[in-house]
Amino acid sequence: MRPIQMVDLKQQYQQIKAEVDAAIHEVLDTAAFINGKAVQDFNKSLEAYLQVKHVIPCANGTDALQIAMMALDLQPGDEVITPSFTYIATTEVVALLRLQPVFVEVDPQTFCIDPAAIEKAITPKTKAIVPVHLYGQAANMEAIMAIAEKYGIPVIEDNAQAIGSDYYYSDGRVQKTGTIGTIGCTSFFPSKNLGCYGDGGAICTNDDQLAAKMKMIANHGQKVRYYHEMVGCNSRLDSIQAAVLNVKLPRLDTYIAARRNAADFYDKAFAGNKKITTPYRAANNKHVFHQYTLLLEGVNRDGLHQFLAEKQIPSMIYYPVPAHRQQMFAAFGSGETHLEITDWLTERVISLPMHTELDEEQLNYITAQVLEYIHNH
Ligand SMILES: *Cc1c(COP(=O)(O)O)cnc(C)c1O
Repeated sequence: MRPIQMVDLKQQYQQIKAEVDAAIHEVLDTAAFINGKAVQDFNKSLEAYLQVKHVIPCANGTDALQIAMMALDLQPGDEVITPSFTYIATTEVVALLRLQPVFVEVDPQTFCIDPAAIEKAITPKTKAIVPVHLYGQAANMEAIMAIAEKYGIPVIEDNAQAIGSDYYYSDGRVQKTGTIGTIGCTSFFPSKNLGCYGDGGAICTNDDQLAAKMKMIANHGQKVRYYHEMVGCNSRLDSIQAAVLNVKLPRLDTYIAARRNAADFYDKAFAGNKKITTPYRAANNKHVFHQYTLLLEGVNRDGLHQFLAEKQIPSMIYYPVPAHRQQMFAAFGSGETHLEITDWLTERVISLPMHTELDEEQLNYITAQVLEYIHNH
């Protein structure tokens, strides 16, 4: 059996090596390292894939979120509603811009922000809502957009874990996640569903004005070189990363299918076990399984993690400390926040290996070991 990785990028690279190597060498040969043809090609392909008017590439997913918030003209003290049960980047940029994070509860089934909790948290100072499509499952965007429209608040989707997912509206419309809110942000960090071989990110919007502004912000606040209209930053996707993404984007749907196959295998193996809740699959979206995350009840979770490690099976706790309990936010008064569901989930989740190259032998082994531990403890 091949060694089991949480994410097996080496194995995936072997499948596309010739194409990736050629694409990278083309960049080397032309020396167009910044904003070269590869970047422009990728931009167009991603706009077509997502069916969105504007894609603005940038240096990473965290920058994407920061640029989105800067473009909305948020002022220090403005409130931003976000889940606490997420990767730190979502909430960190809120603090970085001296905005006030307002952490709200997630849905215990989907692990994504609870629309009812959003509405309860809205005040006159609320200036943005940031849902996160956690683990590859979309938040309830239809309900979130209805609330956002009712109160006139922009929505920034954190799509870093769900690129390629389809969202199904109740009226039958289908739209890609990350293109539903006012702005969508994503990351091409190597382990993401569409990952490059370094750092990368992108911002999407259908709003022409916001697109122009975000392009400017990502480029030192300039439209015309050396004429800086506003304070921006320096955030670029480099050509070598774009060249890798040009090879991988046409395969994204195949990669998602491979992840969903692995998830189906896991689901079947764990079905009916009273101590294990397998990932919920809401009917309103296509789960793209950035992570395959179990919810354990009456199991020593850290004991299972340790047991699996001894069997050469990596597993991860995403995330061991929710944002509202991070020291980073102490100065923002987050110690006063009580999020029972978030705390409850934090103590019970465990993510199993999930990537595009898992084979049946590996999946059999992983599921057998998980079940053995749970049976004996
Ligand atoms: C990965 C990730 C980010 C940040 O992306 P980087 O490219 O690492 O900066 C933001 N939000 C979520 C939910 C993520 O998973």
